[in-house]
Amino acid sequence: MPTTHDQRPTARIGYGFDSHEFRPEIPLKIGGITLPHDKGLGGHSDGDVLLHAITDALLGAIAAPDIGALFPPSDPKWKGADSTIFLREALKRVGEAGYRVANLDASLVLAAPKIGPSAAVIRARVAELLGLDSDCVGLKAKTPEGLNLENAALAHVVVLLEKATSPRKKAAKKK
Ligand code: MG
Repeated sequence: MPTTHDQRPTARIGYGFDSHEFRPEIPLKIGGITLPHDKGLGGHSDGDVLLHAITDALLGAIAAPDIGALFPPSDPKWKGADSTIFLREALKRVGEAGYRVANLDASLVLAAPKIGPSAAVIRARVAELLGLDSDCVGLKAKTPEGLNLENAALAHVVVLLEKATSPRKKAAKKK
């Protein structure tokens, strides 16, 4: 059987961005963690701005449709949805495309709350969701100096994918 040369790139980069507005008296979820704060992020799902940006970075890296196309806000099915659902779908598609996540770097922009005290927990949770070690998840937080964005949270994420070998397929061929 002739073998075809795998011409897929060995690595692919993805970038994701998201923003949500703070609203009073709803839980604040960032990176799959509920943070203590008097306001949360509004949105049709749970408003997890970081998981949304990660999801779009993963989807962008494999040139898949974006989070809004896969999970339209107009669909009542996603009202209040746990954003890990979106992340898991993106990760599944990355795997199906023959890639795995190498590392990720994220910047949050928000006036409050301070992310520093929760950064290790958020990094650990994001790493767990992506099947990575925590030291492959970067997380910085900045205040929106001069941006007049005191009532919003923004997330920027870059992700690097590397081509996955497929041990399961190799094992099957040996039979
Ligand atoms: Mg969003």
